[in-house]
Amino acid sequence: MISREHLLEMAETYGTPLYIYQKEKIESQYKKLTHAFKGSPTKFFYACKALSNINILKIVCKMGAGLDTVSLNEVKLGLMAGFKPEQILYTPNCVHFSEIEAVKDMGVHINLDNISILEQFGNTYGDTYPVMIRLNPHIMAGGNLKISTGHIDSKFGISIHQLRHIERIVKKTGLNVEGLHMHTGSEIKDIGVFLQALDVMLDMVAHFPGIKYLDLGSGFKVPYAPDEKATDVELLAQKMKSALQTFQEESGKTLEIWFEPGKYLVSESGYFISRVNVVKQTPATVFAGIDTGFNHLIRPMLYDAYHQILNLSNPKGTERIYTVVGNLCETDTFCWDRVLPEVREGDYLLFKNAGAYGFEMASSFNSRTRPAEVLYSKGKHHLIRQRETLEDLLRNQVVSV
Ligand SMILES: *Cc1c(COP(=O)(O)O)cnc(C)c1O
Repeated sequence: MISREHLLEMAETYGTPLYIYQKEKIESQYKKLTHAFKGSPTKFFYACKALSNINILKIVCKMGAGLDTVSLNEVKLGLMAGFKPEQILYTPNCVHFSEIEAVKDMGVHINLDNISILEQFGNTYGDTYPVMIRLNPHIMAGGNLKISTGHIDSKFGISIHQLRHIERIVKKTGLNVEGLHMHTGSEIKDIGVFLQALDVMLDMVAHFPGIKYLDLGSGFKVPYAPDEKATDVELLAQKMKSALQTFQEESGKTLEIWFEPGKYLVSESGYFISRVNVVKQTPATVFAGIDTGFNHLIRPMLYDAYHQILNLSNPKGTERIYTVVGNLCETDTFCWDRVLPEVREGDYLLFKNAGAYGFEMASSFNSRTRPAEVLYSKGKHHLIRQRETLEDLLRNQVVSV
């Protein structure tokens, strides 16, 4: 963790609310993954929708990871950050076929996730451009229904029960299927889910002779609350290696395994600092009202997500119970009944695990502009995104009255 002194220094230098990312933490998380899977052909594609600042993408590119993208602009950002087309994977959902065609022109790997698109792609390109197919294995997993994507009601992937239909299309159009993909959700605690998913995928391989890659998506968990644990990647790697070994002995096939970690790589690298505007005592509680809201960090309101909060400027204060709320004119609660060292007006509160889906989901609701972003590395820090201003709010407006 970055020291309290450095965090306070950055809050003073750049103002609040402020996002800070620690470069070394992203690198060490990546090392944990590559170390665990060493000796087994495995690739990691950073899911850039978690945090897409171009500086972060460049850091990820230098580490040697690939990039998982979900939109044409993410593909373009990845290319600008230095990723080669073959290091980029495009996994869209419910996009128009024209976007898929535009991405194809850039030469990246493409995951197709519905029958209609598969058909259009096959009819248009036949076997001239390899594709991957995103399957829905119908495994219920993930921290919250909103972040679970593999269950029966999910809009993601092509159901494994539609295998016959997929096969018919592949046969008729000559599609070259080079990989199969699945992503069952975020924050999977039980590594059994990954192993179950791997089994389902391995069963599918026989149906597609050209398969070279199995992409198991993400779901790697990092601890948010103090009593939570990260996904045990060492144990997972060990069990997966043995399952793949067995598969290889039985089928004679060696498959590359791909993963798409987002949170795992960047969540813990991120810190979000806010300043306390007011302390408001009501008959029921004590509110700490801070200079930000769900416009800047929406996870607590959207997913009931827990973020650890520290009082940076009064760490030794007497512990009291607070409800931390934002400054938006809309219910805007970061947490209820949180024990914190006494919070005074002007104190700096720190949200941990702010790297993933923090700034990335920020908006300028209430015409409160988006925060600045800072990169921290070895005691040094610099701005990687300026705080937005009123001019930014007006930038694309056409004044016509
Ligand atoms: C969001 C997403 C990920 C990343 O999920 P995390 O929980 O952030 O690791 C990976 N793959 C796909 C297809 C996604 O949509």
